[in-house]
Amino acid sequence: MDPKCATLLRQLPQVDELLRHSRLAPLTASLPRPWAAAQVRRVLAAHRDKIGACPAEELPPRLNEEALWRELEQALAAAARPSLRRVINATGVIIHTNLGRSPLAAAALEQVREVAAHYNNLEYNLARGERGSRQDHLEGLLTELTGAEAALVVNNNAAAVMLALNTLAQGKEVLISRGQLVEIGGSFRLPEIMAVSGAILKEVGTTNKTYLHDYEKAITTETAILLKVHPSNFRILGFTHEVALPDLVSLGRSYGLLVVEDLGSGCLIDLSRYGLEKEPTVQETLKAGADLVLFSGDKLLGGPQAGLALGSREVVARLRLNPLTRALRPDKLTLAALEATLRLYLEEPQALAALPTLRMLTRPLPELARQARALARVIKRRWGPRLQVKIRLSEGRVGGGALPLLPLPGYALALSLPPLAPQQLEARLRQATPPVIARVEQEAVLLDLRTILPEDRQVLLTALQGVMGQFEEG
Ligand SMILES: *Cc1c(COP(=O)(O)O)cnc(C)c1O
Repeated sequence: MDPKCATLLRQLPQVDELLRHSRLAPLTASLPRPWAAAQVRRVLAAHRDKIGACPAEELPPRLNEEALWRELEQALAAAARPSLRRVINATGVIIHTNLGRSPLAAAALEQVREVAAHYNNLEYNLARGERGSRQDHLEGLLTELTGAEAALVVNNNAAAVMLALNTLAQGKEVLISRGQLVEIGGSFRLPEIMAVSGAILKEVGTTNKTYLHDYEKAITTETAILLKVHPSNFRILGFTHEVALPDLVSLGRSYGLLVVEDLGSGCLIDLSRYGLEKEPTVQETLKAGADLVLFSGDKLLGGPQAGLALGSREVVARLRLNPLTRALRPDKLTLAALEATLRLYLEEPQALAALPTLRMLTRPLPELARQARALARVIKRRWGPRLQVKIRLSEGRVGGGALPLLPLPGYALALSLPPLAPQQLEARLRQATPPVIARVEQEAVLLDLRTILPEDRQVLLTALQGVMGQFEEG
């Protein structure tokens, strides 16, 4: 070994020595010792690897102790808090898949607590005193709300799509328009789901135009399903044509084929009544005659992660019998949250007021402007003129693959903290407690008011306080 390298390695302190050191004491005091030791060991190992991998001529003459201390402090601080934790979504994207999609309604949280903190009747029929099905708790609500004959809940919508294809079309052909072969968020690619389900994909039409006769020409004795996928996160604009669901349904009927629609977001309320773009609702899709409709629980519905499969009694019964259903079943936390969420939909005004996702979607512009002004005032008073704040018009998004082209006009606070570059300020906000997720636009950090929840406003100031404290220390 190079002698310089050996010297540096010798300069690395021992684990015990570090754990006893007064500089780390404030951090190690609250941590279980084995957990603190594991962090220290990990940081030391990374340093050892780095020294070992460095060409001799680039090695420093002495160990950079300050850098090592900082890394240890960061690692121990991170080990003290949960990895999965609350953040403030200041991006203006409402259904943000990376930020946990839909925040739950208070009623849903309440129900999760009630059910999960105690024993419950998850699979117990109280009337008969015998084993029941976890699927029984939601079916009544779902059929009432949507007009479906039957319903099944699984872990997420990708699972619902896979289950449907596997049950109804394993080894058979599924016809889908080329313009609907979607990828959603990188992890859901329809051709790949189709492959693992055992169904055989048969594309019809072209990327921009697909007609009914394209489907009809492709039907063979091997065809099982006509599948329609809602192009959630994109639109093909201009010279386009897709077949309307009722036409696909009549074609399906005349050839004895099932028609399945993957709605993606799955909305129970006609949003065009609230000044938003029209998304087909679950009710309309069922009414148009789809045999099975699939959608997510945590997108526009505003509930927990889940996949909902609604349709005819006969088709849903076939899904239930598939052994995969057992592997994809939802847990009690999901079912409790989903039931409470669906109950809110029994009265539309209640759903709009109580579900954070729908509330954010329909927040009036003057309300956003008022909140922007109020927050800007507090920021100016506390940290002006070092932290500069302006109010800007901003465009939010629905996200989660719904209404992809619909800009949601709103207001944002544009922050700058010279001499920090906006990217540096964005990074500091991201590492604040709690983390604030913002975006950089036109040389400033934008905090979009639309997705900042009412209870976040005070916490946002606490996070800013931390960032400013650190800034002033230098
Ligand atoms: C989001 C989406 C899915 C996947 O749903 P998850 O609940 O995230 O598994 C499937 N299909 C479409 C059209 C979607 O928009």
